[in-house]
Amino acid sequence: MSKTPTALTLVAASGVPPVPELALHEVLDRLGPSVFAGLLDADGTLRYANQAALCAIDITPDQVLGQRFDATPWWQACDLSRHRLQQALVAAARGEASRFDVRITTVGGNTLAMDFSLLPLFGPDGRVIWLIPSARDVSERDQAQRQLQLTRHAVEQSNDALFQVGPDGAFRDANAASCRLLGLTREQVLRMRVPDIDTQVDDSQWPLRWREMCDRGSLRFETNVRHRDGHEIPVDVSVSQVTSGEETFAHVCIDDLRERRAAERRIQQLLQFDELTGLPNRQRLLESLDAMLLASDQTAVLVLELDRFKRVNDGLGMHIGDAVLLEAAQRLVVAVRGVDLVARRSGDEFVIVVPGPTAVPVALAQTLLDAIARPMVIEGHEIYMTCSVGIAMAPADSDRADTLLRRANAALHQAKLHGRNQIAVYAAAPHDDDPARMALETALRQALRNERLELHYQPQVDLVHGRIVGVEALLRWDHPTLGRVAPDRFIPIAEETGLIVAIGDWVLRHAIEQAAAWQRAGLPPLRTAVNLSARQLLQPDLARRIEGLLAATGLDPRLFGVEVTESMLIGNFEQAVQHLQALRAMGVEVSLDDFGTGYSSLSYLRRLPVDVVKIDRSLVPDVTAPAQAVSITRAIITMAHQLQMKVLAEGVESEGQAALLAANQCDQMQGYWFSAAMPAAAIEAMLRDGRQIDPVLLDRRARQPTLLLVDDEENIVAALRRLLRAEGWLVLGATSAEQALQLMARHEVDVILSDQRMPGMTGVELLRRARVLCPDTVRLVLSGYTELQAITEAINEGAIYKFLAKPWDDAQLRSHLRDAFALKEMADSNRRLDLEVQHANRELAELNRRLQALLQAQRAQNQREVDSREATQELLDALPVPVFGVDDEGLLVFVNAPARTLCDADGDVLGRPASGELSDAMRRALEGGSVKLTLAGRRFRALCRPLSGNARGCLLVLLPQAGVRA
Ligand code: C2E
Ligand code: CA
Ligand code: CA
Repeated sequence: MSKTPTALTLVAASGVPPVPELALHEVLDRLGPSVFAGLLDADGTLRYANQAALCAIDITPDQVLGQRFDATPWWQACDLSRHRLQQALVAAARGEASRFDVRITTVGGNTLAMDFSLLPLFGPDGRVIWLIPSARDVSERDQAQRQLQLTRHAVEQSNDALFQVGPDGAFRDANAASCRLLGLTREQVLRMRVPDIDTQVDDSQWPLRWREMCDRGSLRFETNVRHRDGHEIPVDVSVSQVTSGEETFAHVCIDDLRERRAAERRIQQLLQFDELTGLPNRQRLLESLDAMLLASDQTAVLVLELDRFKRVNDGLGMHIGDAVLLEAAQRLVVAVRGVDLVARRSGDEFVIVVPGPTAVPVALAQTLLDAIARPMVIEGHEIYMTCSVGIAMAPADSDRADTLLRRANAALHQAKLHGRNQIAVYAAAPHDDDPARMALETALRQALRNERLELHYQPQVDLVHGRIVGVEALLRWDHPTLGRVAPDRFIPIAEETGLIVAIGDWVLRHAIEQAAAWQRAGLPPLRTAVNLSARQLLQPDLARRIEGLLAATGLDPRLFGVEVTESMLIGNFEQAVQHLQALRAMGVEVSLDDFGTGYSSLSYLRRLPVDVVKIDRSLVPDVTAPAQAVSITRAIITMAHQLQMKVLAEGVESEGQAALLAANQCDQMQGYWFSAAMPAAAIEAMLRDGRQIDPVLLDRRARQPTLLLVDDEENIVAALRRLLRAEGWLVLGATSAEQALQLMARHEVDVILSDQRMPGMTGVELLRRARVLCPDTVRLVLSGYTELQAITEAINEGAIYKFLAKPWDDAQLRSHLRDAFALKEMADSNRRLDLEVQHANRELAELNRRLQALLQAQRAQNQREVDSREATQELLDALPVPVFGVDDEGLLVFVNAPARTLCDADGDVLGRPASGELSDAMRRALEGGSVKLTLAGRRFRALCRPLSGNARGCLLVLLPQAGVRA
């Protein structure tokens, strides 16, 4: 019989009797509440169980003692455990100890994972006399292990490339994404060092980089890494130091910037060129025209509009309309010279810029007219188009791009008035005699005078909590006969005529008064923003006036904001930036309006003193938008966040858009979906009612975990629903990809399980799309068909987390889905943490900025005071009149040059009591009144002038008297 080393032998070395049974009981009871222990006969009958074991299943000793141990209630919950116990009992009878994990269910219904052992106890004769079972709770250990596994799994599955790097620069660990990034196997990566892949660090620089990381605890930088093929990949690297025991290593997360760079390039492209025709757009046109005007003495601008284009669109459909535009664009490009510029300004409007002698444009215009007039054949339709052209010329008509374009427009208007298919050259000032426009201008002046303008307010809603956080003031004008005139129509007129300055003042005053009234009424804090115009930004005292209005109404500057566009800043960048900085220093929020329609260079954005970027509604995507559009918006959001700016999306018209924006970390939104602009009273009612976005749409915490099932066979969806009923998940079902996308817009989905073969869109395609729309979902394919190629690709690029085969095993499927939810939960909590950190960082940066601005203002103020004090002293020294300065404690603090000569005093007198240095008569003068006195043979009248302002005390001035010598 073999005895295991752990078995005990109760052998009395010197004839002492074996440990009595009662003493054993006592030992077993003292093992503490988490250790269950007992005593069995050699045949497995329970003789004793300690308190901890009895309590766990709430049982009295007489209910179990005397029973066979494997028949006691501890073993009822788990057949496997009981089976193993039976084997252990047999082994113990042979004198062998056993140890294994068991599961025990307590009275509270908890299942405990326990480390169980069964030890035989030997009598003096070497025979087994007792068995000691004991069990220790290891649930926590198990849980920690599971957590660890889950974390490992998450690291491995993560789309971010993650590495561990040692002090020598060698890679200690690398996940799958990092191997994919570098095109290497894990083994290859683990044989390399950082200098082997980072193009900006070589061996000699590595120790420096390591030291820098250790000094700072973390690093963040951009660099390039080398792929196995030799090409370089731009990446964003975050490194943090990890110390575990004695060891220090670096945790490195590498973010592939290629997609972001591509999105940036794409944004640039979108912002400068028209999507349909590829021609330069309005913005690019303005820039190029500016440059061409500078470069050439003479330039002609032709504005060309297709006649009655709308009829094509309405009659034959948009796609034919698009084809016509494309054809027209191509004909124009062919008709002009290489140096000329063709741009698409809007729908059916093109602009051609012709640098060079004036004779050319009219001839060219005729060529263009002819080119467009040739019949077009599109999808079997024969289409006849004509166009009208207006021409203006620099420098005769203007040398400024915007004026030139306006004048060419005016000419175009004339051409259309004359029956279209015409050319008109700008002559005189058609503006001034455009009667409709003049009437509108007069009416606008009257409206301003008679207070017929009104402000409406559009709510701006926070996408984290769903609450209204601000409003944008928007002008409304009801014309007595025309009805409501859109600001887009009257604001340009106001801008051209200069009326905008008076209107802008009116808006500022009214909006600030309204905001102050809301604040006084005790409504929840709400920021009111007004739109500024370019002319207002040119006023040197704009910031001071706003400060004055805020002070006069008592409105907290943090409850006020201004909106400006990039194009406004261009004219006078320095001054505009100064205004904005001054406003921000007060706490006023600055928003950059219409982002995405102007210059919108992301690098330019860095230089602007801006708190919020308002994404123009043309860049606010919907769930049905192409994936490209979503990634552009996301790139803008990411970039703005990196610059510590908030992002507000404009023109949100559907719940789908709002959900998509929230999922992509957009901070705020405004748009018709939540509310159009409303009169002040309606806003107040909304605030009192606490109107907000349904938190279900936004809040990721309080909601039920959500599973989306997609299969074109309805009975499969139904079967899966039944199978998963008890899991406590919200289960959504869709029978097509289209329907699935709609559901994703309305619900925040955590896990998607999709069939592969479906009519329309395959499962892989759907999940690719889901990845772009809601990158955080965990996506699985359940399919009978193993289209290995497509599925492997999708898994490799991170679109799919797992592939499961049909027909499925119920238990396995359930467990895969549980894993998926656990993964999602972990990713969510990481992201929440990340968001909170980002949020805190932004707030901190904001605080710092404000502090910096305050400090700067204070420093400037101090300097001004020093400067003015010095200037005053110089001035007083130059006066031919003796002057003494005495502070409020009676000390001499200032003596000008004539006074020093008169009293024959040197610098030492400063700081001494005036009473000791001045004559009696002068001291009397200090006490008030005017005293006559004679000093050094000259007669003076001594006058005392108290000082006001920051300095306290008085000035004693000795005015020389006529008669001079006594
Ligand atoms: P904006 O600053 O971009 O203002 C947003 C415009 O989008 C407003 O048009 C608003 O009513 C509209 N809008 C809001 N939500 C949605 C939506 O979901 N879908 C769509 N399609 N549109 C939406 P509004 O009030 O006609 O103003 C037009 C423009 O006139 C403003 O554009 C702004 O540039 C100018 N404007 C308005 N009020 C003032 C003002 O007091 N001063 C100055 N200088 N300009 C103003
Ligand atoms: Ca605006
Ligand atoms: Ca806007």
